[in-house]
Amino acid sequence: THDIHIIGGGLAGSEAAWQLAQAGHKVKLSEMRGSGEKTPAHHTDHLAELVCSNSFRSDDAERNAVGLLHQEMRDLGSLILSQGDIHKVPAGSALAVDRDGFSAGVTAALEAHPNITIVRERVDQLPSEGLTIVATGPLTAPGLAERIGTATGKEALAFFDAIAPIVHFESIDFETAWYQSRWNKGEGKDYINCPMSKEQYLAFHAGLLAGEKTEFREWEDVPYFEGCMPIEVMAERGVDTLRYGPMKGVGLDDPRTGRWPYAVVQLRQDNASGTLWNLVGFQTKLKYAAQVELFRTIPGLENAEFARLGGLHRNTFIKSPELLDSTLRLKARPNIRFAGQITGCEGYIESAAIGLLAGRFAAAELTGTTLPAPPRETALGALLAHITGEAEVETYQPMNVNFGLFPPIEGRTKKADRKLMYTSRAREAFRGWAPA
Ligand code: FAD
Repeated sequence: THDIHIIGGGLAGSEAAWQLAQAGHKVKLSEMRGSGEKTPAHHTDHLAELVCSNSFRSDDAERNAVGLLHQEMRDLGSLILSQGDIHKVPAGSALAVDRDGFSAGVTAALEAHPNITIVRERVDQLPSEGLTIVATGPLTAPGLAERIGTATGKEALAFFDAIAPIVHFESIDFETAWYQSRWNKGEGKDYINCPMSKEQYLAFHAGLLAGEKTEFREWEDVPYFEGCMPIEVMAERGVDTLRYGPMKGVGLDDPRTGRWPYAVVQLRQDNASGTLWNLVGFQTKLKYAAQVELFRTIPGLENAEFARLGGLHRNTFIKSPELLDSTLRLKARPNIRFAGQITGCEGYIESAAIGLLAGRFAAAELTGTTLPAPPRETALGALLAHITGEAEVETYQPMNVNFGLFPPIEGRTKKADRKLMYTSRAREAFRGWAPA
């Protein structure tokens, strides 16, 4: 018998299992790899396998949001971070790991824990009772994904992401850009507009065609839905396709000329606090460097700082801001929590972080108490708040941790100082919250 069932032994499920077991609860951890099942990206039977890069990104807890997240997780006894530290390989200020040593280390620690039973099996149903954490990741097996779709409503489960770039509000130049909704419908501050002349538009169109693109992996086979077609694919359809589509200038009066611009790039607010804005319709397979170069030619975005660049991948995730409560429980079926990338966070560490929180929230529930959510000023709190309500539901797409998710620092400060202000504020808030 067990107190809780965790489905999926990846980054999130492994961390959640560890946190619960360390708190004295009996955990059943089901992982389909090792039972003859595979995902298209995993190659081993190890738990917490890293499917691509071996980097956990920056380890700088003073100036970097993911570095800060590392620190908070270490302070909470994270298995993923402790094994990461043991299996560290040289990588400058980043934390990179020996991938086989790392996942073998996680597997051994979980196998040796007296409170954990690992079962190599594929789970096809959402348990109707008993505390459960679903941590089956971006490549959740189809049968279970189907059940999740039924439980959440089909519209609320995505099988592909279609990521438009997001910029930090403070990096937009309002000498050129202006607020206005097309035909002045809606609220005055719904959209930010960046105007283009004919020459600028033609150069931009040529840049989209010429820019280097990422190829799909064979198994990804992403279908292009109208409405989430990559911008460069639209550009290939004809020189004016974008100008009559997402880049149309009609109904928008450039305050500097009093006229409609030849073309326009619109940005829409991406989080409730208004620190992040997405480029409407700009999902793309352009390589990151090509995106930064090309999108900084957009008038008003010359100095844009990107919180996220565009992409399009196979990726199973739910509309968490609408579906989950503040402790990651499915509102419609509160015995089930979600954790990891399936909640719409992005990245190894973010997935493990949400696994850590799901484990801790469940552990509190098992002892009849509640763990308050970490403060919004912390990296854990900022990421959790984004997932469980802060993000815009309609445009919800996978997100890495970044300072744009934190409550803004008021007043004008130098960029370098601002990062230090975010992290020192976070440390103080974390100290006030962190469970013993
Ligand atoms: P996973 O680590 O994928 O774990 C989910 C586990 O659930 C898997 O072990 C799977 O076998 C198991 N499972 C699935 N369905 C079932 C079922 N029905 N029953 C039982 N078990 C099941 N992030 C980065 O930070 N850096 C990168 O370089 C990077 N590259 C990526 C490349 C690809 C191709 C993909 C798909 C993702 C990549 N990511 C990367 C994102 C990365 O996958 C996630 O950040 C992270 O692995 C997700 O952790 P997770 O625990 O949510 O899911």
